[in-house]
Amino acid sequence: MVKLQIIEQDEKEIKVIFKDIHRSYVNAIRRFAICEVPTIAIDEVVVLENSSVMYDELIAHRLGLIPLKTDLTRYSLPEECDCKSALGCTKCRVLLVLDVEAGNRTRVVYSGDLRSEDDFVKPTSDSIPIVKLAPKQAIKLEAYARLGKGKEHAKWQPATVSVLTPVSEEEDTYMLYIESLGSLPSSEILSKATEILYKKLLEFAEKSKSVM
Ligand SMILES: [Zn+2]
Repeated sequence: MVKLQIIEQDEKEIKVIFKDIHRSYVNAIRRFAICEVPTIAIDEVVVLENSSVMYDELIAHRLGLIPLKTDLTRYSLPEECDCKSALGCTKCRVLLVLDVEAGNRTRVVYSGDLRSEDDFVKPTSDSIPIVKLAPKQAIKLEAYARLGKGKEHAKWQPATVSVLTPVSEEEDTYMLYIESLGSLPSSEILSKATEILYKKLLEFAEKSKSVM
């Protein structure tokens, strides 16, 4: 039977030893922690006003890279959502609004200025700079965030680091280290990656049955 031993664990990092498991399984979990476990990120931006010197596209790109706290229990991937709508619904997208006007002074607009319609889904840090406004300049936009996977675009990657180190290959013992970007707790990245592996194996088992 597979044995799991947690060596270190906090919100950001987790270090686990797997015993009696083939390398390929732990390696799949390692890879899924980067490219298959979904997170929420800003994907579409509607700019209503932008008198800053920065292009709309560049602002949209910067917004996409801001890590957002992700709730995997309440949101679905757009392709799996019941709404089947390209516009999305409250179960597959979150609206964040940015509406800042500089007064008589230069003003830096930060991630903390984004107002989310969901109290949980908001930037993991309030101090990520987005754009600098000169006096009297303004920025007003609607940003739509959704769940996505790292294999689609790096902005949806839940982990910055996910590495597998052999402890003893003869005894099939490996150490997996995952470092979260902040959207999900490290332990949730690990459990979700494991769940994805399990689902994929089940699908495979079902498909092989139909072949026989
Ligand atoms: Zn939906």
